[in-house]
Amino acid sequence: MKTNKGLVLPGEQLGNAEEIAPGRGTYEYKGTIYASVMGYPDLESASKTISVRALHEIPHVSEGDVVYARVEEIKSMLLVTTVLCSAANGRIVPGYPDGTVHISKAKDSYVDRLEKEFAVGDMIKARILQGYPAVKLTTQGPGMGVVSARCQECHAMLAKLADNKLVCTRCGRREERLVSSDYGKAPPTEETPTPPAA
Ligand SMILES: [Zn+2]
Repeated sequence: MKTNKGLVLPGEQLGNAEEIAPGRGTYEYKGTIYASVMGYPDLESASKTISVRALHEIPHVSEGDVVYARVEEIKSMLLVTTVLCSAANGRIVPGYPDGTVHISKAKDSYVDRLEKEFAVGDMIKARILQGYPAVKLTTQGPGMGVVSARCQECHAMLAKLADNKLVCTRCGRREERLVSSDYGKAPPTEETPTPPAA
């Protein structure tokens, strides 16, 4: 059974139809499952379904690119984001891939807890460390970090103060983030990114 992450070509055997089910990007012929597209096979273990993610569908972000991403979840060691668009030209990243920031790549100095630097819903500017198979990001370096954030109390936008702290424009609450020097500058998007709900 071919379940590693290597590239497969159309017509390449993926497995036996008695053991696994054919999913997207595959077909079954005489009890054998084949790839119907060029791409990377993916075996979903719960349903035992094999699919092939076509190469042209794979979102393309490259090492060194700077992107805007939205913070979706904060784990103890990892920030999980949705990569929205290129910071250089505002182009949407197809497929809105997940991108993660490891705690060691969040800041130039030591980060004790990611919750002190970010909040769910923040828009961040980050640089791609790795584009494939998983998107890995860093918020180290000038200009990187949170560019837009909302008040955790009343959800109004936070404004940046001179001391790099944030203040709620509605209720006056003070909050702290890893504030980017570009805080408050709207991403130059072609359109407002509206990624699908998770
Ligand atoms: Zn507020």
